[in-house]
Amino acid sequence: MCQGKRVNEECNMNSSKFVKFESRDDVIRLADKFYLIQGPNQSRFPFCNGFLLTGQNTVLIDAGLGEAKISEIDKLMRIDILIISHSHPDHILAWHVLKDRHILLPKETPEAVKDLKLLGRRFTSTAERAEYWVRRIGDGLGIQPLQDPDGRFCDGELLEVGDAKLEAIHAPGHLNDHYCFIEQRSGILLTTDIDFGSFGPWYGNPECDIELFEQSVKKVMKIPHRQACSSHSPPIKENTTEKFESWLAVFRLHRKKILELCEFPRTIEQIVAESPFYRDRFQDKVMQNMFEGQMVQKNLAMLVRDGLLEVSHGKYQNNNRATS
Ligand SMILES: [Zn+2]
Repeated sequence: MCQGKRVNEECNMNSSKFVKFESRDDVIRLADKFYLIQGPNQSRFPFCNGFLLTGQNTVLIDAGLGEAKISEIDKLMRIDILIISHSHPDHILAWHVLKDRHILLPKETPEAVKDLKLLGRRFTSTAERAEYWVRRIGDGLGIQPLQDPDGRFCDGELLEVGDAKLEAIHAPGHLNDHYCFIEQRSGILLTTDIDFGSFGPWYGNPECDIELFEQSVKKVMKIPHRQACSSHSPPIKENTTEKFESWLAVFRLHRKKILELCEFPRTIEQIVAESPFYRDRFQDKVMQNMFEGQMVQKNLAMLVRDGLLEVSHGKYQNNNRATS
């Protein structure tokens, strides 16, 4: 409660800032003291949605709103804690704006986040590609190496931040340190990069794992929730199970596409050149090739293992068994 003239003035100022925040075009109120802030460019890479929790302290989940937007929000709301859902560039993008605040990282986030060269190596498969990643994404997007966090969270941990009870859910496969969250009071499920986008699941780094990713999606969708909010799309309030199911179906569609491309014997390079997933829509072709190469390779390995593809002299061919 505010008492006294000066405190009253402060209260008024705070409430007018709050009104200003809530009336922003890019702010969606999800529940009491819980907001989604849309990133620039419709929250597409290299940006993502931010989630803001208010109460005893103010918490921002992910730093993909970009420097300008995080600074604006910070001026209005004074962010105390930054939680990073996973260490992809679009989620750590402008963390440095909040470098003097309390920063929480997943337990699984490796030390590589403190060195862009190592991060480039982690996200690509060769030293040459790592260098390219640093030039175009690391330095190119102005990402600063992360500092040691003030804390780390692990699977099942209940974070009492803002006035919320935020449970961390480890959801690996997309990345080893990928996390989703359920806010237990409101039933808001933050699905982060289980993003319901038309591209479908993204698993273009060496450490990504298709089957682990599928298992994570199945685990997350079973958590009772009222809304599902991802990092790259608007919140979903109804029929969330259908959205999860149709997004899961894209994993199968990816496998089907590869099988179709292997109707005749093809090398991995030939398959990647067909751009089955990106459909040549990524501006930077070198980068597209790196990520798509990983995605193709992972599907090929699964299909060979499952006896659906045969490999001979470096060429893959569909052996025409029934597929599901
Ligand atoms: Zn990601």
